[in-house]
This record gives sequence, C-alpha cells and structure tokens, in this order.
Amino acid sequence: MRRSGGRAVGRSVTQREAIVARSPCPISAGRRQPWDSSGATSDKLHVTCIPARLSILTRPLNGRAACHYCGQCNRGCTVNANFTSTNVLIAPGLATGKLTLVTSAMAREVTVDKTGRATGVAYVDKTTGTDRRVRAKVVVLAASALESARLLLNSKSSRFPNGLANSSGTVGRYITDTTGTDVAGFIPKMMDHVPHNHDGVGGMHLYMPWWLDNTKLDFPRGYHIEVWGGTRMPSYGFVGGIHRYPSGGGYGKQLKDDYRRYYGATIGFSGRGEMIPNDDSYCELDPRTVDQWGIPVLRFHWKWSDHEYRQVKHMQETFRALIAEMGGEVFSPLPTAEQGYGIAAGGTIIHELGGTRMGDDPKTSVLNRWCQAHDCRSLFVVDGGPFVSQADKNPTWTILALSMRTSEYIADQTRKGAL
Ligand SMILES: Cc1cc2nc3c(=O)[nH]c(=O)nc-3n(C[C@H](O)[C@H](O)[C@H](O)COP(=O)(O)OP(=O)(O)OC[C@H]3O[C@@H](n4cnc5c(N)ncnc54)[C@H](O)[C@@H]3O)c2cc1C
Ligand code: SF4
Repeated sequence: MRRSGGRAVGRSVTQREAIVARSPCPISAGRRQPWDSSGATSDKLHVTCIPARLSILTRPLNGRAACHYCGQCNRGCTVNANFTSTNVLIAPGLATGKLTLVTSAMAREVTVDKTGRATGVAYVDKTTGTDRRVRAKVVVLAASALESARLLLNSKSSRFPNGLANSSGTVGRYITDTTGTDVAGFIPKMMDHVPHNHDGVGGMHLYMPWWLDNTKLDFPRGYHIEVWGGTRMPSYGFVGGIHRYPSGGGYGKQLKDDYRRYYGATIGFSGRGEMIPNDDSYCELDPRTVDQWGIPVLRFHWKWSDHEYRQVKHMQETFRALIAEMGGEVFSPLPTAEQGYGIAAGGTIIHELGGTRMGDDPKTSVLNRWCQAHDCRSLFVVDGGPFVSQADKNPTWTILALSMRTSEYIADQTRKGAL
C-alpha cells in the first residue's frame, strides 16, 4: 500500500485539518470502542477520519426544527430537520403564491423564436397524452445532467439543427460518474458486543476525506472513503453470506446464535473518487429508440482511463490495509487488472455530471460561468450538467450552491433589463 504521502491528523494549520483536530473520529482518535480495543486504526495508516457532514439541522432554522434523533430519516423527516427539495425549497416557494407547479408534465423540447431566443417549453401532459406548451422569458433546465442534455439535443430547429446551445458540439459530451469500489471484512474484535441501539440519524456517520499528496502517486486527483457497518435494525437478508464467517453457517439454534454474535462484526469501506472527463465518455440521441411519448432517448458511450483504474486499485489496497490493521479478514480477494480492480460500471454510483459543461470559450463549452447558454442568453442549466469535472465529493450540495448562484444572477440581470 502507498502511504508515504499521508500525514497524521491535526498537525498543520490548514482549515480542514483544524476541523479534523476538533472533531476526532472514534476510530482514529483512539477512543476505546467495544469493537476497537486497539484504537487509532486509521491514525496508524495516516488516513484522515472525521464525522460525516449531513444535510440535517442541529438548530432550528426558518420554521424547521432541529433533529431529535428518531432515526426515521428514510421515511421522510416530519419536522423537516432533514433537507428535501420538496419540503425545504418548493413548499416555501408555493407559499409565496408566485410559484405554479405543472405536474405530470414530460418536457419534450425547449422552444425558440426566429431570433434564437428561448421562448418556453413544449411538454406532454402525461395524464391525457396531449402536447402542451408553456411560455417563458427565461428557461431554466434542472432535469438532471443527462436529461437536460437530452432536452437540448431534442430541441432542433432550422437555427439550431444540431440541438439548442450546441454550436460547440459539446452537448452530451464529457460526462462523468464517480469512481467507486467497495471492500468489506469481518472484524473478530467486534463480535459478541452488548446489543444496543446504533440507529442514530440516517446516512453515514464517518467520513474519510482525501488525504494524500498526488505528486507521490500514479494517478491525479483523489477519492474519499465512506464507512459502513454497525447494528441498525436488521432487515431481510442481513448478515447475508454467513457461511463466510468462522462457524461456516448452520441450522437452528446455532444459526440464530451466530447471527447474534456476528451481526455488527462487519465493516465496509466504499471509495468515491474523481473521474477525469474524456473524449470517449458521452451520450447522444439514439437514432432508433424513443420513449413512450415518442421522444428520442439517449445512448451512452463510456470509457474509464488508467487514471481511474489506478485510483481504484489504490482504494482496494487502502481498504484492505485498514481491515488488516483492525485485525480483520477481507471477504474477497483483490480484483485483478482484468477485472478493473473492482471499479463499478460507469453510471452505477449515480453521480452523473457534465453534458452541458461550463467554460469561457463558446467553441468548447455549452454554458458560461453563470450556467447561461453561450448560444442563447435566455437559457440556463442548473443541474449537474455544467460541471467540468467530477471532484471526489458527492455532487448535490455543489449543484444546489451553483443553482442558487445562477438564480441570483438571473434576478440581477432581470432587474437590469439584460434578460
Ligand atoms: C440512490 C441515490 C443516492 C444518491 N446519494 C447521493 C448522496 O448521498 N449525495 C449526493 O450528493 N448525491 C447523491 N445522489 C445524486 C443526487 O441524487 C443527484 O446529484 C441530484 O438529485 C441531482 O439533482 P438534480 O436537481 O440535478 O436532478 P434530480 O434530483 O434528478 O431532479 C430532476 C427532476 O427533473 C424531473 N425531470 C427529468 N426529466 C424531465 C422531463 N423531461 N420533463 C419534466 N421533468 C423532468 C425529474 O422527475 C426530477 O424531479 C444520489 C442519487 C441516487 C439515485
Ligand atoms: S433522525 Fe432523521 S427523521 Fe428523525 S428528526 Fe433527525 S433528521 Fe428527522
């Protein structure tokens, strides 16, 4: 394993490390846990480990209550401590009386006038199957990265024969997904613990941000690590594959006892890394296939480069070293180069970005820095489409931040009469 580039937590002056120093991780800070009597596992390997950031309030805000740790996040948070766009963004918008929602509407294309200005959206009313239109001074697409590219490619006119905002030919191009691979292992020290409620708030609790120096590695950029395990309320299929544990499975009372002993004695690590955009990963309209509304669908082309394969190999080696350091056994052998070191297929991690990338040069990008189409000033895209790269962070907070920045720009430009 490569660990020469790593540094111990909290010993420099960077802001991130200051946060880390204030927020020690149960594994890395050496707090004694029932399952980690040795402690300091990730510290020993110089892997930074911090509490995970979640979109959950710890203090009341704008009529939303603070989290009361009921552990029901996946069912929808009744007090709105947990962020959802429906409850936290759309509901207050509706309350202003200035927002009209048109539901069961399948957008087909963005309409334009003779001057090339976007004038609205043509859509299918899915309840009746009829074609409808809505007019607009400004059109903002937020259909998710690939669907916005699809809408633009389907918005063909005599002025825009290759699709709207596509004079550069880059609509649908340079799409990315997060790289990903997982390793899980059995940690004997975590067996036979006293059962207690591990539910907590939904989502992950530990996070390992990128911690290494790329100049000492054979791939650019980096990845973060998500940690899983624990003893939440078991659901069907829990401890699947119990034959992999020391007693090898069984029947009756022995099997039930083993489930109790082994449940919670598993730890897993998921790597989530940056993919570098490339010419061979793109989507285009499928010339033969349409959806149920007769709208052409996308077809995809995908290629991982050596950057991604090397990065995922590094993930595999790191996770295996962490499990070994905890005195555990990994469930599966290291995937071979022929198996892509276990890299998840493109699209699997569901962080699709790009397809309408931003940039200063209209010849090589679809949108400007404000997510406004170079070819059409009254058209904006505010989903993951404008991203020029993947970064190793899960994308949604950045999508939200960019969309709010674009909203402020639209309001400002409207006030100035520039739109
Ligand atoms: C299972 C899962 C887990 C994820 N976990 C995380 C995570 O932990 N962290 C993270 O940062 N990201 C995560 N993501 C990614 C995250 O969900 C997306 O990045 C985010 O939702 C993108 O936001 P968006 O508004 O661009 O698109 P969306 O949330 O997909 O919203 C697009 C909307 O447009 C509508 N729409 C699409 N096409 C049309 C059309 N033709 N006409 C009319 N309406 C249309 C859709 O119905 C939808 O309501 C996850 C994704 C999945 C699927
Ligand atoms: S635990 Fe989840 S569902 Fe319960 S209050 Fe907190 S955010 Fe809401």
